[in-house]
Amino acid sequence: MTSTAVRHPVSAGRGDQSPGFQMEAFETFVRHAPFAAALLDDAFRLTAVSAGWTDHALTPQDMGIGDDFRRALLSPEDVESLERCVAFGEPFSRYRSIAVNGGEPRIWRTEFAATRLEGGRTQAVVITARDVSGFAETALKAERDQQRLKMALELDDLMVREYDLKTGEVYCSNTSPELERWCTFKIDPLEIVHPDDLERVAELVRNRKDGEAQVFEFRLNRDDGVETWVRSVGKKFLGADGKPERLVNLFKDITDRRRATEAVETLAFKDPLTGLPNRAYFQRKFQEAVDASELVGELFGLIMIDVDHFKDINDTLGHDAGDALLKRLSEMLHAAFRAGDTVARLGGDEFAVILRGLHSEADMMRPVAALQELLRRPIEHAGRSFSVSASIGAALHGDLDADPSHMIKNADIALYRAKDEGRNRSVVFTPAMRSSLEQRIELLRDVRAAITAKEFVLYYQPVIDLASNSVAGFEALMRWDHPEQGILTPDRFMAAFEDQDLSLKLGDLAFESALKQMRDWMDQGVEFGRVAVNISAAQFRSGRLAEEVQERLARWNVPCSRLTIEVTENVYMGWGAEMVADTVRALHKAGVMIALDDFGTGYASLANLRHFPIDRLKIDKSFVQNIEDAAIVKAVITLGSSMGMKVVAEGVEDQAQLDALAGYGCDQIQGYHFSRPMPAEMAPGYLERFGT
Ligand code: C2E
Ligand code: CA
Ligand code: CA
Repeated sequence: MTSTAVRHPVSAGRGDQSPGFQMEAFETFVRHAPFAAALLDDAFRLTAVSAGWTDHALTPQDMGIGDDFRRALLSPEDVESLERCVAFGEPFSRYRSIAVNGGEPRIWRTEFAATRLEGGRTQAVVITARDVSGFAETALKAERDQQRLKMALELDDLMVREYDLKTGEVYCSNTSPELERWCTFKIDPLEIVHPDDLERVAELVRNRKDGEAQVFEFRLNRDDGVETWVRSVGKKFLGADGKPERLVNLFKDITDRRRATEAVETLAFKDPLTGLPNRAYFQRKFQEAVDASELVGELFGLIMIDVDHFKDINDTLGHDAGDALLKRLSEMLHAAFRAGDTVARLGGDEFAVILRGLHSEADMMRPVAALQELLRRPIEHAGRSFSVSASIGAALHGDLDADPSHMIKNADIALYRAKDEGRNRSVVFTPAMRSSLEQRIELLRDVRAAITAKEFVLYYQPVIDLASNSVAGFEALMRWDHPEQGILTPDRFMAAFEDQDLSLKLGDLAFESALKQMRDWMDQGVEFGRVAVNISAAQFRSGRLAEEVQERLARWNVPCSRLTIEVTENVYMGWGAEMVADTVRALHKAGVMIALDDFGTGYASLANLRHFPIDRLKIDKSFVQNIEDAAIVKAVITLGSSMGMKVVAEGVEDQAQLDALAGYGCDQIQGYHFSRPMPAEMAPGYLERFGT
């Protein structure tokens, strides 16, 4: 290494401000710099290096002081940059990766800065170098991530919007120009949300925690009416001070996906027969109503509709008729309720309606009344016309402290009540109904257990024939021999006779027990006349009642002429009347006597009942006991006799009633005046005392 060439500019004087002096001062500074530095003169020659520079081998090994530094620059661009730096004083920097003695390569950033003389001529170039390995890696990685991110955004048609919460600056990636048009907003991010989705999204935003990512799906509030669904991931990033600094949102247009899922959902959520939403859809809509109610205190109503005696319609008129009815009913529902109400078919003959945004109970009951009006019109099917009715239970979510999810149960309870009160009516739920229903469920459970425990027995009440003044027979009446409460009459377990399953069990029990009793009396030579057994509607359902009764009679070897069945007029008039008529005819033909029970309490007129083979007409005790109904009783007796029926008066409690009835020509009397219902073992003694 020769030092002469290097030193020569420096020798040009000292102690003054001459370029030579300055150059010497620079060289001294560079040589002692506590970092990597080097100095070039205006002819690109290396004039000084620091220890740090040498240690890190920042110049090629064969390069010494006085050598042209341009050789150390690897690329022609760098050479050009250095030449421009000398010629015009333009600083520049470059990165170099250098491995010392085969070690890990380090990345160096070298900066070239010209020192200029007064006239603008470059005197020297100071080179400083910094090991930026750590930074460079992150910088390079960040750049790569940035590229990857950009690719991903473009591929996925995503738009990024970054909002600087401190400066208010907004950055939008222009990867999805369409979204960019709608998703740029200045102040309130919610302004891009469609009004219908606003409440939901606003609620989510309110609950957002800073620094937590949140996903939204909503429709854009576009002024051109085009429905665009957007999925947005939003997150507030915290600054070093722990306060939110930036809000970053990613937007994606998911309209297509939404449409596709909606199409699938319509398939999954639609009842094929009526085209109405099904139970699954109902549940979803119900949840929405519950949410809205909890969120903003919206008043909503729920209506449950059950077609009365639908099973009988299906059984007697066929499934085609049943289907026609359901379709017709769904049309009626559409006509009666508002377009925005959710009318769903929950299954079978069960329908439900969700009414949102109500102001009062009247808002809910108005369409119910409209539906009932529509139901009054008969339905035409296959040239036949039949009438249909429905029971309706309604519940209103007005009590904001109550759990709205109870609504389904409440509406169900109201529906149950509507059926219980005789069907073809609507009932609005009140909290008192819940306890009465619970009591009922408890009762049915107890009755079931009591059947197993054989606690049900028959009591027998004599029926007196006035003309012959003799006991014509007995009516068998059910009693519950309760282990704690003693003998209970049916008013304590009436619900069991109305329960499909239990009424069948009790019916079986009554028949078996009455037939066994008749067999015993016959064997003992007790002359009991006829025994009347009460039949509930459910017992006709199987369509096999006539056969079953005859089989039982045969099994107990009791002649048909010993049995009367008592059927209320409601059973004749209800659905399946055809089947009831067939059964009754068959039994009548076999010799079983048919009595029409509780006559006068229902809607039947004798004219309606003309084509049923009725032998006995039992006038309900309410008429017998009410003196003001004397004219009716008289008319019924006259009419019944003229139609060839014998007339029985129930509930005769005193001599005056008896005398009056005898005067009207009544045939038979039943009541406390003669005897209360008694246990079977007392019947023979009664018969003996009566003198038959
Ligand atoms: P029902 O068929 O009309 O029976 C006549 C009811 O009138 C009986 O009530 C009887 O005890 C009552 N009664 C008789 N004479 C008088 C009287 O002078 N004054 C008053 N106040 N009542 C009188 P009970 O035994 O309590 O039965 C009530 C109802 O329970 C029956 O009315 C019937 O509908 C039903 N029932 C009873 N046993 C059976 C049964 O085995 N099967 C079915 N399906 N229903 C039954
Ligand atoms: Ca009866
Ligand atoms: Ca009766």
